[in-house]
Amino acid sequence: MNRLSDNQVFVVGSGLVGSVLALRLIQRGFHVEVIESREDMRTHPMSAGRSINLALSHRGIAALERVGLANDILKHAVQMSGRMIHGLDGSLQLQPYSFRSGEHINSISRRTLNVMLMSAFEKLGGKINFSTRLTNFDPSKRRFTFLDSTMKEQLKENVIVIATDGANSAARKSMLDHSASLRMNYAQKFQPYGYKELTIPPGAAGEFLVERNALHIWPRGHFMMIALPNPDATFTVTLFLPFKGPDSFENLTDPHQVELFFKKYFPDAVPLITDLKTEFFQNPTGHLNSVKCSPWHYQDQLLLMGDAAHAIIPFYGQGMNCGFEDVVVFDNLIDKIQNVEDLFAEFEKQRKINADAISDLAEDNFEEMRDKVADPVFQRKRKLEGMLEEKYPEYYSKYAMVTFRPDISYYDAMVRGRRQDDFLISYCSNKLDFSSAELDDVFHSLQSL
Ligand SMILES: Cc1cc2nc3c(=O)[nH]c(=O)nc-3n(C[C@H](O)[C@H](O)[C@H](O)COP(=O)(O)OP(=O)(O)OC[C@H]3O[C@@H](n4cnc5c(N)ncnc54)[C@H](O)[C@@H]3O)c2cc1C
Repeated sequence: MNRLSDNQVFVVGSGLVGSVLALRLIQRGFHVEVIESREDMRTHPMSAGRSINLALSHRGIAALERVGLANDILKHAVQMSGRMIHGLDGSLQLQPYSFRSGEHINSISRRTLNVMLMSAFEKLGGKINFSTRLTNFDPSKRRFTFLDSTMKEQLKENVIVIATDGANSAARKSMLDHSASLRMNYAQKFQPYGYKELTIPPGAAGEFLVERNALHIWPRGHFMMIALPNPDATFTVTLFLPFKGPDSFENLTDPHQVELFFKKYFPDAVPLITDLKTEFFQNPTGHLNSVKCSPWHYQDQLLLMGDAAHAIIPFYGQGMNCGFEDVVVFDNLIDKIQNVEDLFAEFEKQRKINADAISDLAEDNFEEMRDKVADPVFQRKRKLEGMLEEKYPEYYSKYAMVTFRPDISYYDAMVRGRRQDDFLISYCSNKLDFSSAELDDVFHSLQSL
């Protein structure tokens, strides 16, 4: 039997998921070393173009609790208790995420989170080889090739690699190079939308210029803008816009067009984003893609985890949370399954169905965020769900199941949540208001779905 504890384990990628995984493995006493293609972000600035902050919720927090860092990390987060919807007319509407206490999401800086995780790993004696990349895996020779900062190749045979090297995973690409012998399935989907990050700076007295404890959304039908708070009273704003078409990145090519576009669609945000025109042209336009593939592992040698296995689009705020949950599931399985190949296979069996579910939910949620949140039927549904949650704390909306209930799998949350949504949307289409007397009937109908 080949046990994980008998092997040298390389975690490839010290991004968010790789850092939590490496930390958990070293806490368990495994021989683990990390390979990271970038320079150390603690001594070199991170390149622009990646999301600056992220929504951290209960599934992700469960992983941080597992490595003993949840409380310390949450001290650096800003709580977001609901969506603040910005109408075209400047109106504001707060849609709470939940009516139960403790159910909010947390805006956290990617850098702060990553640095705290890497430092905790190193504190336990872990080694991160920066500026070193995985370039190839040859299954026929059971051999990995790493390239270090001096361009020297290092060949490693018969070691175990867990690849957390992100959405453009080199490990996954190597598996695809052998797709026929591995019978590998692969689907990559690019969205016709891109994203651009901008900033709302603090006010003159260092205050937050819009509501601090909310995720702000400017839904505009076929596109939208969002803003997440940071502890320094700034907001990171993200515009999601089609690449092509009438309102699109291809038509925003000079500062005047950008100004007119923002004045037309986001008039209340224009005075807040003080460096709009400079940032718009300085910051890169990111693309959004999702990846579904299988298998996620090769024998007892290579396992994909996090975005490398299942990159998803960011509209449920779950990509990192899902990757963190991977680590919890893997950690639980290590206790139960000794043989590495069986461990990898069981991990994939348990996670693939759930990663596919959250990927599909994220696609649905894009439509919800950019369009439906402003729709009167949807708003009545959210109101009714709020009333239900207040009266029946055991009622969980689809969003609440995904975000606040790690004990319900993504797949189960998707199936149950979609049934609830269908029922509630049809119920709310014909009703303008709800009496508390009818809540019992609605609740019992939902229970019987
Ligand atoms: C705009 C946007 C907003 C998002 N918002 C949220 C959110 O609110 N909540 C949420 O949960 N998720 C969010 N996500 C998703 C989240 O960013 C990812 O799911 C998460 O970063 C995945 O972590 P990872 O460790 O798998 O990959 P990454 O964070 O991409 O890390 C991969 C690491 O591997 C390294 N690497 C790459 N190639 C190699 C190689 N060949 N050799 C060695 N190292 C390599 C990279 O340098 C990097 O450090 C968002 C994503 C985007 C794009």
